[in-house]
Amino acid sequence: MIDTARALSEQHSGAVIHFMDASGPDGVKPFQPHLSHGDGRQLDIALFFETLEGEQLVTPPDTSGYGGWWPSEPPRPGERLACPHGRSGPADKPDPPVDRDWRLDEVRTRDLIQLLVDDPRVRRILIEPHLEERLGFWGHPKMRFAGCQAARHDDHLHIDFYE
Ligand SMILES: [Zn+2]
Repeated sequence: MIDTARALSEQHSGAVIHFMDASGPDGVKPFQPHLSHGDGRQLDIALFFETLEGEQLVTPPDTSGYGGWWPSEPPRPGERLACPHGRSGPADKPDPPVDRDWRLDEVRTRDLIQLLVDDPRVRRILIEPHLEERLGFWGHPKMRFAGCQAARHDDHLHIDFYE
């Protein structure tokens, strides 16, 4: 992740990768409430966002990076809807308000993902299908959908590393 952060900051001056949960101190998997995590090889990182005028936001538009019902980037009309019947229990979080004043920074998010998939130490990346397709990674062998029992991955990316 440090190598990726350095490379990304060379492409986009001032770009900082914000990470959230990785592992608990006991190293037990799964690290609740996650379905995995716990052994130090999984990391959740924030997507990049910008204003509607295209001004880059330094941090995601909330304080945690996960954001509850925001700041996610839900499917646009016509894009793939991964879970048309919703998700299980706590994984079911609503879309952000339609009148939000920010949007996904597709350029920095795409460049971040490209660096990660090009790194042989990265095993897979969990992302929602509509973003996998929109950002140009559809069908890439490292890009996966976590399923409708898992948290939505259009508010963060889940990165699995090899040992
Ligand atoms: Zn995760």
